Amino acid sequence: MDPIRCVPIRNRCQCLLCGDVLESRHRHDFVWCRCGATAADGGRDYVRRVFCNLPDGRPSFVDLDNADGENPYHSAVERLVARVLRGELPLAQVDDPDARDMLARLGFL
Ligand SMILES: [Zn+2]
Repeated sequence: MDPIRCVPIRNRCQCLLCGDVLESRHRHDFVWCRCGATAADGGRDYVRRVFCNLPDGRPSFVDLDNADGENPYHSAVERLVARVLRGELPLAQVDDPDARDMLARLGFL
């Protein structure tokens, strides 16, 4: 029996520093965000990320497509911060102390 090969349906991530959503559309489509902290590569062949570490040691991106379900990088706080960076949630409405702390460390507060 052949091993099951996991192929990403889409290969997207979001930079937590600038909010850019990156999508690598094919194997050699290497895409940088505008702030240069994060890149996506590999298209539907593999998932590769280039990133820097945030002050708390976590990576500068969240994956937006993950067929394996829970991604360790997807914390509730990071999802909240990503919504602010995308302009979906006004900064003033963020009352989660951890999210405010992260936004402050990123220079948004
Ligand atoms: Zn960026």
